Amino acid sequence: MKIMKFGGTSVGSVERLHTLAELINDGSPKLIVLSAMSGTTNALVDISEALYHGDNEKAGKLILDLEKWYIQVVSDLYAGKSALLYGLELVRTHFDFLKSFTMDMFTVNEEKAVLAQGELLSTALFQYLLEDKKIPSVLLPALNFMRLNENGEPDMDFISENLKNILRAYPDDQLFITQGYICRNDFGEIDNLKRGGSDYTATIIGAAIDAEEIQIWTDIDGMHNNDPRIVPNTFPIAKLSFDEAAELAYFGAKILHPTCILPAKNKNIPVKLLNTMQPDAPGTIISAENQLEGFRAIAAKDGITAINIKSGRMLMAYGFLRAVFEVFERNRKPIDMITTSEVAVSVTIDNTDDLADIVDELSEFGTVKVDTGLSIVSIVGLFPAEKPGYAGAIFDSLRNIPVRMISYGGSENNMSILVDTKLKKQTLLALNKGIFGI
Ligand code: ADP
Ligand code: ASP
Ligand code: MG
Repeated sequence: MKIMKFGGTSVGSVERLHTLAELINDGSPKLIVLSAMSGTTNALVDISEALYHGDNEKAGKLILDLEKWYIQVVSDLYAGKSALLYGLELVRTHFDFLKSFTMDMFTVNEEKAVLAQGELLSTALFQYLLEDKKIPSVLLPALNFMRLNENGEPDMDFISENLKNILRAYPDDQLFITQGYICRNDFGEIDNLKRGGSDYTATIIGAAIDAEEIQIWTDIDGMHNNDPRIVPNTFPIAKLSFDEAAELAYFGAKILHPTCILPAKNKNIPVKLLNTMQPDAPGTIISAENQLEGFRAIAAKDGITAINIKSGRMLMAYGFLRAVFEVFERNRKPIDMITTSEVAVSVTIDNTDDLADIVDELSEFGTVKVDTGLSIVSIVGLFPAEKPGYAGAIFDSLRNIPVRMISYGGSENNMSILVDTKLKKQTLLALNKGIFGI
């Protein structure tokens, strides 16, 4: 069985939905994971925000605008009368549900239910389209098997057992559809895998059922060597290792959800990145075999905060770093980059929740300085420690860029630098020129 995930743009219009129905209709067994139609999750985020602020009038208007858009989609989508009626009824049910929140209390649980509506709509509308086209398919509700454990991580045993059981009930079917992004938490409440999470759904499902391949279909022909939204003339990379892809995803390459590579790597399942608009383009293959020395790609992650702790006590002391890291552990705050000198340590974090508490606790060890508005720029590839030239090429490119922190040698796959976000574009361009000659 193959897993094929289609992102927001790939299901974003009547035309795209028709193209998709043709693309998947080749008779081979597959499980299709769909995102919400593009723009929907953003609209649902705006609706939730208005509801949080008690601005029910604004929320009501946003809901009506979105509903109108869906009614138009449904009106244009189907050839048959019954699919049209089903589609209109579906839209009405989901939007009545959304409207009910303008008259009710709104908490984080309701927000998660609101955010789930996009994928519930796209998958059901697409399945009606397949029925309309007489293509047999089965819709598997993700909320019946996608589950997080008490740490907010995918509960792989639960997912694997339940999904396999569900699939066993359909021995004669070849085509399954499910929602990306949405899941239940440890309490059984509706939750999600964070923005961009449909990629993660695809790799979790792939690992859970030992799929032969996971395909992530999007609006670009694979992972590019640099951020195509910022840098002109980027090019697709044919092959990536799991470790390179994981670094790029974590450090900002938006084409992949930050943590979606791990389930595929754990089960050694190849991941292909493909373009729905250009289905014959080779795209990118991510697999264990792809261990090619050299530079692969550059990515950037914004919204970074650096915390510097300077202390006389660090000099010659052991146990100091442990005490510092324990502060981050207690506050459940992952650290992205670390650098140390004899008297100071700097770390970066990517969200500032509880920052005041962290700074308070760290102040016990010395002087604490916080810097915001920073970006991590990561250069990813395979740079064996014994080979000269890699650090040199990177530093040469950065000749005119003020660099705040550097991290090199943690793995052979990544060198990261920290710059002011205002200099991100200049940094990506300089590295593109210095490393890739463009
Ligand atoms: P989807 O809705 O299909 O999940 P996304 O918008 O999440 O699509 O991801 C695809 C987008 O990621 C591309 O359109 C591109 O602008 C952006 N992107 C950022 N960095 C990269 C990169 N290194 N390679 C390819 N695409 C990238
Ligand atoms: N619809 C969700 C989002 O926009 C999940 C996804 O598209 O991957 O973030
Ligand atoms: Mg995405």
